[in-house]
Amino acid sequence: MLFNFKDELAERLMRYASIDSQSDEESFITPSSEIQYDMLNLLEKELKEFNLANIKITEYGTLIATVPGKIKGKAICFLAHVDTAPQFNATNVKPRMIKNYDGSDIKFPDNDNLILSPNEFSYLGEKIGHDIITASGKTLLGADDKAGIAIIMTAVNFIVSNLDQNHSEIRIAFTTDEEIGRGVHKDLPKDLDVKFAYTFDGGKVGEIDNETFSADSAEVIIKGVSIHPGEAKNEMVNATHLASEIINNLPLKTMTPEVTEKREGFIHATEMIGNSSEMKIKFILRDFEIEGLDNKKEILKDVCKKIQNLEPRAKISISFKRQYRNMRYWLDENKTPLEIAEKALTNKNIKPIKKPIRGGTDGSLLTENGVPTPNIFTGMQNVHGPLEWISSTDMSLATEVMIEIIKLNSNLEAEK
Ligand SMILES: [Zn+2]
Repeated sequence: MLFNFKDELAERLMRYASIDSQSDEESFITPSSEIQYDMLNLLEKELKEFNLANIKITEYGTLIATVPGKIKGKAICFLAHVDTAPQFNATNVKPRMIKNYDGSDIKFPDNDNLILSPNEFSYLGEKIGHDIITASGKTLLGADDKAGIAIIMTAVNFIVSNLDQNHSEIRIAFTTDEEIGRGVHKDLPKDLDVKFAYTFDGGKVGEIDNETFSADSAEVIIKGVSIHPGEAKNEMVNATHLASEIINNLPLKTMTPEVTEKREGFIHATEMIGNSSEMKIKFILRDFEIEGLDNKKEILKDVCKKIQNLEPRAKISISFKRQYRNMRYWLDENKTPLEIAEKALTNKNIKPIKKPIRGGTDGSLLTENGVPTPNIFTGMQNVHGPLEWISSTDMSLATEVMIEIIKLNSNLEAEK
């Protein structure tokens, strides 16, 4: 029997997307913005209407619930994040649907200069006949990751109304602050208490992400010698000059985000603040392999050492912070979650596409903390900007994949 979920998915996505739940990088509280509770509270209410068990919002702002099942075995989990990206306006999102898309350029009611064209985005050209959802031109859409939420909610609705608990236990989790890298609180793995999980936070149909970057951050502090500029001769050491020396000695032509792709890593100066007496430069370091990441740390250290040696009166210090690690290291050791996902796709006649993500997901930290969590497609495209769009048919395929994963896992558990 073939179900068609696309109208429910479109309705859910458009309703969720119109709620502003942007996260805030500058904030020190958890969750970073109060408005994320508008989504959490709404979803909590909807999960109660589905009669799920153990529904709670943790003090760190993750909504967790359980779909009870008659088949024994440890639960598996499905996750999506409620926040939208801070990089673009997310206030007053007006989602709209282009029904039965005809393959032409899509225009935007609130921005005459904006055009979403299949000539530029060939994936859109493949979606003729689909219902396409976009924002109105002034904001992002927020399909990242409200498409993931709509997919999970629609699948849960189907499961509770059709499967009569003939499946193993399912956990649902909606996190906050994924977009600012704070989606996985240290207590989340134990609070989920599952054998493995999936995030619905990926792009094109077929995508299963089993690799993310390994990531560290670095902070370089340069203390100069501050003297009144009128009496500075042979005395002043200007920290801003040394900061620019450090930047200029880095491999800018081969190892920055703007010149790298595919499996290449980078050193990215994200922020430089200060004055002539003291400067701070912030970096993020990324590579798919630990050795590559260590190598980038050494490069940064060597450059700092070189500039320090050239100007011994300055004081240059560097510190590193661990962020997350490539999930592949753990997914190679526990192949079950990926195998089930691939089989689910194949059973739905979708060709699995495995590609490394040049970033991290909530799954990166979950995976290294004991919950293997690959990422699955939703259909979302051009995320974090005004050209964001999604096809409700693509979302429908993701919903079918989620239900298929539940069935495959339940069969495995029943055989035990
Ligand atoms: Zn996302």
